[in-house]
Amino acid sequence: MNCIDTYDFAGKKAIVRVDFNVPLDENFNITDDTRIRAAIPTLKKVLERGGSLIVMSHLGKPKGPAEKFSLKHIVSRIEQYLGVSVQFAPDCQKADEQAAALKPGEVLLLENLRFYAEEEGKPRGLAEDASDEEKKAAKAAVKESQKAFTAHLASYADCYINDAFGTAHRAHASTSLIAKHFPQDKMFGYVMEGEITAIDKVLDDPARPMTAILGGAKVSSKIGIIENLIDKCDHIIIGGGMVFTLVKAQGGKIGSSLCEDDQIETAKAILAKAAAKGVKLTYGHEVVAADAFSNDAARKVVPVDDIPDGWMGMDAAPSTIEECKAIIESSKTILWNGPMGVFEMENFAAGTKAMAQMLADVTAKGTFTLVGGGDSVAAVNQMGYADKVSYVSTGGGAMLEYLEGIELPGIKAIRE
Ligand code: AMP
Repeated sequence: MNCIDTYDFAGKKAIVRVDFNVPLDENFNITDDTRIRAAIPTLKKVLERGGSLIVMSHLGKPKGPAEKFSLKHIVSRIEQYLGVSVQFAPDCQKADEQAAALKPGEVLLLENLRFYAEEEGKPRGLAEDASDEEKKAAKAAVKESQKAFTAHLASYADCYINDAFGTAHRAHASTSLIAKHFPQDKMFGYVMEGEITAIDKVLDDPARPMTAILGGAKVSSKIGIIENLIDKCDHIIIGGGMVFTLVKAQGGKIGSSLCEDDQIETAKAILAKAAAKGVKLTYGHEVVAADAFSNDAARKVVPVDDIPDGWMGMDAAPSTIEECKAIIESSKTILWNGPMGVFEMENFAAGTKAMAQMLADVTAKGTFTLVGGGDSVAAVNQMGYADKVSYVSTGGGAMLEYLEGIELPGIKAIRE
């Protein structure tokens, strides 16, 4: 497999799929440029090694061309970080001349790929009352035109780099289909490499004991991950709203805590599987409960399986954090996905904050700690712990699917 550090880019044009899906305010100012900064080392590497760049990304969820989703708004920020001027192609399918004229060291940014339905390969503009036949025909049509769309993108370049981990779980034109046009000249960028290495370190060959901390709202959205991790972990700590479905499955009293009644059987199966595999599954003995889903609600610490009527579990209690501490301090590898409580509310953020602090402490002592997936990433960033853990994954959905053991199309397309 090619590697960005050794591939000969001299005189070559590299088409690079990045994730520049950054948040913009109403005046099109970038409010968080983390994703742009993340891709810069890959882009710089190609330029340093004598190549030129055709950079492509999506932005938001447009239904067609729209000013609001134009990548032209981010050109100057890329220029700022790359230190070279960036040309812009206002239509990703009409960039032939600009791409052909690129000289080593030059950069061309293509307009939002999702201005075309072909990028995702999903039909657009179907009438709500369209029949199944019509839906099928529209899908077949867009899949067919997707081939030409992909080939056109590929025609701009000599090699392909995928550095968009955030969309690696999507089999889109630019994230996966395009790779087959470069059978000998495709590779991962540094963002992809970093993510894959970090997650594989946890999933494939973790230093033991290995602990997974799984929090967040719902069992239903984490079931695939829990099942995959039960086969790999020594310990599983469950936190957040998921706890109460498990407690109820074991006959506990959960008051008006979040609970998915249709997941009770699943919860029982998880508990049984963990027991059968000898995995220690813990959620502590106490929670901070509230009498309303509000930051200003009354609070009290109660047993996790004896929550009074009208009260709901909102955060891990200090005693539960102490119980987790012993497990965390004895672990050599830790994966954390999902907050321990309703951390968006200041009064119920203590459990999540304490967890972040404990991970930071053991990281300093040599434990490998990976934080990934949506809200736990937001929590460590917000609380200032991002650089105190070993790795923070940038890919929400992609990370979750990878943790479920699913082979991501964006990774497969480069590897195969
Ligand atoms: P997820 O996207 O599944 O990781 O869930 C994250 C969400 O779970 C956050 O918005 C938290 O506020 C929420 N959450 C965590 N603990 C609880 C809880 N005990 N009750 C309700 N929601 C919770």
